[in-house]
Amino acid sequence: MRIKGALHVHSSLSGDGTMTIAELRRWYRGHGYQFIALTEHAEDLDEAGVERLETQSQANSDEGFRVIPGLEFSADPGLHLLGLGVTRLFPQTNLLAVIGHIHAEEGLAVLAHPRRIGWKCAAEILREIDAVEIWNVGYDGKFLPPAAALGRFAGWRRVNPRLLGVAGHDLHRRESFYDAAVEVDAATLSREAILASLRQGRYEIRSLFFRADPAGRVSPGRAALLRMMSEPLRQARRARAAAWGWFG
Ligand SMILES: [Zn+2]
Ligand SMILES: [Zn+2]
Repeated sequence: MRIKGALHVHSSLSGDGTMTIAELRRWYRGHGYQFIALTEHAEDLDEAGVERLETQSQANSDEGFRVIPGLEFSADPGLHLLGLGVTRLFPQTNLLAVIGHIHAEEGLAVLAHPRRIGWKCAAEILREIDAVEIWNVGYDGKFLPPAAALGRFAGWRRVNPRLLGVAGHDLHRRESFYDAAVEVDAATLSREAILASLRQGRYEIRSLFFRADPAGRVSPGRAALLRMMSEPLRQARRARAAAWGWFG
């Protein structure tokens, strides 16, 4: 069955998001989602915190909705790595060690918002990670991913042909929500089934104007739309950011 989900969601548990896990469940269910993958900042949680993350994720899951707990790790040099399905903290910040930890916990290692690091990443890292956010709504904006992201991702896939592209919400508050889903083909709504489908690339990135497969391929029509809208969107975002700077 097809399951609509959101990756990279922050709750109030780590003090970063504004919504509780129960509120996130209500919000996402209301928008037709059947699962969310939480990614709480690991450095803001202690042992009791990750325990709450696990129990509240379970308490807010049932046959109609699944909350997959997970962590966002900060690693050297200034990278953020999502560990989907991981609830064990890790004291080191060495990037390869963090990736090893995520895999030892049977989680998915996703490089978050590559735009923040200018899409610069060592080949030895690219060969180890499972996926990368070709669209991070928080950093890249709503409606469409940046046109340049697909070309960059294609370049990274020449280094690691198994690398998967995903969309992440990086949601911290309601206002920044945009309906950019990862639609997964999974047998059940269990955490294991959803993570396995993601790992095997059995999903599609879908939003109103954008659709891509895990290899970052889009139809020629959508690619043309992306190129056409890229500059106006960039300017609109810049104007909005300037206005916020002025009034905010
Ligand atoms: Zn981040
Ligand atoms: Zn984040």
